[in-house]
Amino acid sequence: MIYLDYAATTPVYNEISKKIPDLLDKYNFNPSALYSAGVKTREVLGNARRQLAFYLNVSPENIIFTSSATEAANMVFKGLNYKTANQILLSNLEHKSVIESAESASELGAETVYIKHHRDGMEFEDISPFIDENVRICSIMLVNNETGAVNQLEKLAYEIKSYSKDILVFADIVQGFGKIPVNLENIDFASISGHKLGSLKGVGCLYAKKPEILKPLIVGGGQEFGLRSGTENVVAVLTLIQALKTTAKLYEENREHLKKLKKKMVDFCNKMRFHINSPENSVDYIFNFSTGMLPSEVLINHLSSKEIYVSAASACTKGGVSRVLKNMGYSDGIAATALRISLHPDVKEEDIDKLIHEIEWASENLVL
Ligand code: PLP
Repeated sequence: MIYLDYAATTPVYNEISKKIPDLLDKYNFNPSALYSAGVKTREVLGNARRQLAFYLNVSPENIIFTSSATEAANMVFKGLNYKTANQILLSNLEHKSVIESAESASELGAETVYIKHHRDGMEFEDISPFIDENVRICSIMLVNNETGAVNQLEKLAYEIKSYSKDILVFADIVQGFGKIPVNLENIDFASISGHKLGSLKGVGCLYAKKPEILKPLIVGGGQEFGLRSGTENVVAVLTLIQALKTTAKLYEENREHLKKLKKKMVDFCNKMRFHINSPENSVDYIFNFSTGMLPSEVLINHLSSKEIYVSAASACTKGGVSRVLKNMGYSDGIAATALRISLHPDVKEEDIDKLIHEIEWASENLVL
């Protein structure tokens, strides 16, 4: 099997799955329990929080473990108070977890305002005309999950804060976290997903600079500083920390390798006159292109029959036609024939050669 859909989910690292029985043995206790195994489990959870905080250069009290990045986004947009300022600024290239949770905050009196964007991301000039005392929060994703486009998060957040300290900044850092540098200095909230890094599913994190301004979505026992009640999934959290360490090391050590893989895809697309949808500034591990002639589904099915797994768009896109590409201004023809290849340092050059060979074959034999 050749797996090229790491942006959808990353398989659990072998070294992690091997450790799980031992972790379950030692730390599957209730961290609120008073006996020694509970105390130990609580300590380990605290350690994990400190390690994640250290990596992000923030304080442990600002790390709230969640079930997913989707939950983290919901906690923010549905947890804020919109009484004095009610606008949410965002772009329509954001992940659905952000768009839908922002939209659903309309029940709380919030209003979503979609700002212009470019194919390679957002510019402050497009945001500034909308900035006034009505804006509560602005959302900026770090890396687009379909095209790999990188927003200049640090610069944009700085510019927004220079304009007004009162405007909160939310960052979906899911597709960049652990893989490219991220600076949260001017960021108020950030969402993180474990399974994109190779941890168990069902674990993520919210970074909140001022957690106290959020009204909890889930109430009960008061876990996670009262923001997310429910007995903590300590073993899953431990796999998140280990997956982060492994990911950070592998991506750091394999930057040139990933560049080479992407270049292979770019050269191939140029040779075939395929349309490259990923902008110049995109990360090396997410590559999006359109054949212009083969519906995404046909190509995905052919590749799947050869045990090569890729996506057309985000894993949450129904029907296979990319909303993001359409919102980037691309034609139906481009959006309906797109393919997203998402890579990992473990992907070999031969894997890409095999992919290329099969796409070439499909282009010659499957076009009606
Ligand atoms: N944000 C981005 C950019 C994503 O790619 C994803 C996953 O598809 C999410 C958020 C949601 O992550 P999770 O699956 O942890 O809810």
